[in-house]
Amino acid sequence: MINVPFVDLKTQFRALKKEIHEAMEGVFDSGCFILGEKVKRFEEEFSAYCGCKYGIGVGSGTEALHLALVACGIEYGDEVITVPNTAVPTVSAITFAGATPLFVDVEQQTSTMDPNKLEDFLKREIKLKGSSTIKAIIPVHLYGHPADMDPIMELAEVYNLKVIEDACQAHGAEYKGRKAGSIGDAGCFSFYPTKNLGGYGDGGIIVTDDINLSEKLKQLRNYGQKNRYISPIKGFNSRLDEIQAAILLVKLRYLDRWNEQRREKANLYNNLLNDSKVESPVESDYARHIYHLYVIRCEERDILKRRLESNGIKALIHYPIPIHMQGAYKHLTPKECSLPVTEQHCNSILSLPLYPELENCSIEEICRLINECDT
Ligand SMILES: *Cc1c(COP(=O)(O)O)cnc(C)c1O
Repeated sequence: MINVPFVDLKTQFRALKKEIHEAMEGVFDSGCFILGEKVKRFEEEFSAYCGCKYGIGVGSGTEALHLALVACGIEYGDEVITVPNTAVPTVSAITFAGATPLFVDVEQQTSTMDPNKLEDFLKREIKLKGSSTIKAIIPVHLYGHPADMDPIMELAEVYNLKVIEDACQAHGAEYKGRKAGSIGDAGCFSFYPTKNLGGYGDGGIIVTDDINLSEKLKQLRNYGQKNRYISPIKGFNSRLDEIQAAILLVKLRYLDRWNEQRREKANLYNNLLNDSKVESPVESDYARHIYHLYVIRCEERDILKRRLESNGIKALIHYPIPIHMQGAYKHLTPKECSLPVTEQHCNSILSLPLYPELENCSIEEICRLINECDT
């Protein structure tokens, strides 16, 4: 029996060990651990990679979203629109900012925010409430596939809303040739170890072209300080540290290669599952998908998951419970709220192992089991 873990960070580390050790040693030798040269350089390189002017390194992806909301002026009593099929932190960030999340359902094909439903939702809400408390939209580039940003940006313009992209699963993904995270007012990334670009601990960054936003974020992450010991605004402590920045500078150079390997492996899955009953993920014409996750859909999902696991293959569900049904957040959503695509997807989605180091023979075995399960 083969044994295929869902992710494998050890193989990648073995290949990079020397570079990583040197980078970390450099930080220890420098004696500087917070907001030094490495963070500055990483902010420059990562924002340039995204095609943005500014990068602000913070403590996590959740904090990137939270601080971006605060910097955009979101406060207590405001409302922020996002999707229900996301990682919980998208919504924690909204509530950290004191705002209330509102949920718009997703597209059938990409599982990302449906611009038509967003438009209907905005029209209905504005009619209902008159002047609106809705202040921002957070589209999520789920699984590494960008949301359909052009119509979302148009609606944001019409309704005067900020757009903060949750690009925590989309390092290097593209929308019509532009990098995910570079399209809205701000783009937020996580460097959680299993992301396409991951550190060896927590970390995150916000990218933006807006200098005012950038300046505000630099204060917010560092006690609200403008200069040392001078705090004109209330702030937080949320900083990317020098060790993580040094590691990420090494790994950033491999990101495109790793994403390309993910794409090749996703294609192999697609080809081998072509005749099966499961639905493979689809890449929209506008998108360059970077397959943070390879998510199939099938009716008999639980049976298939058990069968894979009894054959040594780990598969997961992203995400089994939509946010509007989570204990912590369900009271925020009206009972009559209907999010049928999300609810249908969460019963049929299954994430298969996918990482740059995954062996093709493992993919062949996984697909053989899936195809067998069909008959
Ligand atoms: C990982 C992730 C986050 C949170 O990132 P952390 O660094 O773990 O705080 C937010 N949103 C999405 C969609 C994510 O996948």
